[in-house]
Amino acid sequence: MAFDSLSSRLQMAMRRLTGKGKLTETDIDEMMREVRLSLLEADVNLKVIKTFINNVKEKAVGQKILSGLNPGQQVVKIVFDELKRVMGDESVGISYKINGLTVIMTVGLQGSGKTTAIGKMGAFIRKTEKKKVMFIAADIYRPAAIDQLKTIGKQLDIFVYDEGMNKAQTIVKNGLTYAKENQYDVVIIDTAGRLHIDEAMMQELVDVKEIAKPDEILLTVDAMTGQVAAQVAESFHNQLNTTGAIVTKLDGDTRGGAALSIREISQIPIKFASSGEKMDSFEAFHPERMASRILGMGDMLTLIETATQNIDEDEAMGMMEKMMSDNFNYNDLLKQFKMIKRMGSISKIMGFIPGMGKYKDQLSNVDDKQFDKMSVLIHSMTEEERKNPKLVESSSRRRQRISKGSGMQVSDLNRLIQALDQQKKLAKQMSGMSERDMKNIQRN
Ligand code: GDP
Repeated sequence: MAFDSLSSRLQMAMRRLTGKGKLTETDIDEMMREVRLSLLEADVNLKVIKTFINNVKEKAVGQKILSGLNPGQQVVKIVFDELKRVMGDESVGISYKINGLTVIMTVGLQGSGKTTAIGKMGAFIRKTEKKKVMFIAADIYRPAAIDQLKTIGKQLDIFVYDEGMNKAQTIVKNGLTYAKENQYDVVIIDTAGRLHIDEAMMQELVDVKEIAKPDEILLTVDAMTGQVAAQVAESFHNQLNTTGAIVTKLDGDTRGGAALSIREISQIPIKFASSGEKMDSFEAFHPERMASRILGMGDMLTLIETATQNIDEDEAMGMMEKMMSDNFNYNDLLKQFKMIKRMGSISKIMGFIPGMGKYKDQLSNVDDKQFDKMSVLIHSMTEEERKNPKLVESSSRRRQRISKGSGMQVSDLNRLIQALDQQKKLAKQMSGMSERDMKNIQRN
């Protein structure tokens, strides 16, 4: 699988940190050395590596401590954000014309997977955008290239316009007229590729661009070529003002350098990822998903993201303290439900906080779906009852009134009383935690 080696090296470097409650500068330096080696080995461009390391280090050293995350987890988040940034942050798609023909010109070196990518992209656009797609065969130097595109077109049932070895500009001009006359929505043009960038090829591409006035010029780059791919992209971009890249062969033993270097070096956004011989192995490129795949810590990253987005600085800690105090009441429970709703689940929140992981299982039997019901019940209580749970527990008259007022059964209210009870019991257990655990929680 692509990125295997980069993934495992980065993960190893990260894992050493995530368990730590406190990070020293030496820890960070050691990790950065590992990260640097991983990127070098993945054939990432040196300039990209330098910026990457500097950015991570700067943020890691000066980081603000967020509640809910330990320092190690925060460094993972910084590395993740930086990986995402070098790949372009946001996913960028094709700019389709609202009315009329969208013209996509594809360019790329021979063997980069251009013809295969054209087929896959055609099928992808037809499927995801429900558009009528046509190809134009304008790679006139190799008869085999025209045949290959026609074979793919036949296989996919996509029309291929060709005039054999006629002049590329003429073929493109006529092909576009044909497409307009036949109400196609999208045309993908195949152009000449060479083994290396040369003047004549570039000139022809510039000429075809002049005729085609494409909405997109997409460059196919072979992911296996590492940082060379970024230089190729830069050259193409300088001459043609390309609008995006398709990274191909991501299924191979790709080291990752191409995907991580292209954006920063050439400024071209990666729009698609192509990853196999099959016609449906083609997808929109999402920097965030790719970063998550590289770090291979999907669950943890989601958690970190959720925490940083949704948890108020002191809210989680305040809630924990309150839970452990003797007067945890229905108002607190209500607040907790709201927090859990934002975060996902209580077991998630707990799993996050060092030392709390062991209580996770006991909490997961609090059914998240019951929260709404329980909230309605709490809203039927008087303020006095919410603050003083004993009033509810000790009076069947009150219990009847509350359940009736909320349109529910007394048995529902009993379940709520049990939930509060359970929280209190748990709080008692937690307050017996070791001092070290407590320190961890407070620090984070
Ligand atoms: P072109 O010369 O740029 O048009 O490249 P082709 O589309 O002919 O592809 C060159 C070679 O790479 C062919 O053998 C393809 O089967 C292979 N290829 C293309 N795309 C992929 C891909 O995503 N994964 C893998 N493993 N091979 C690919």
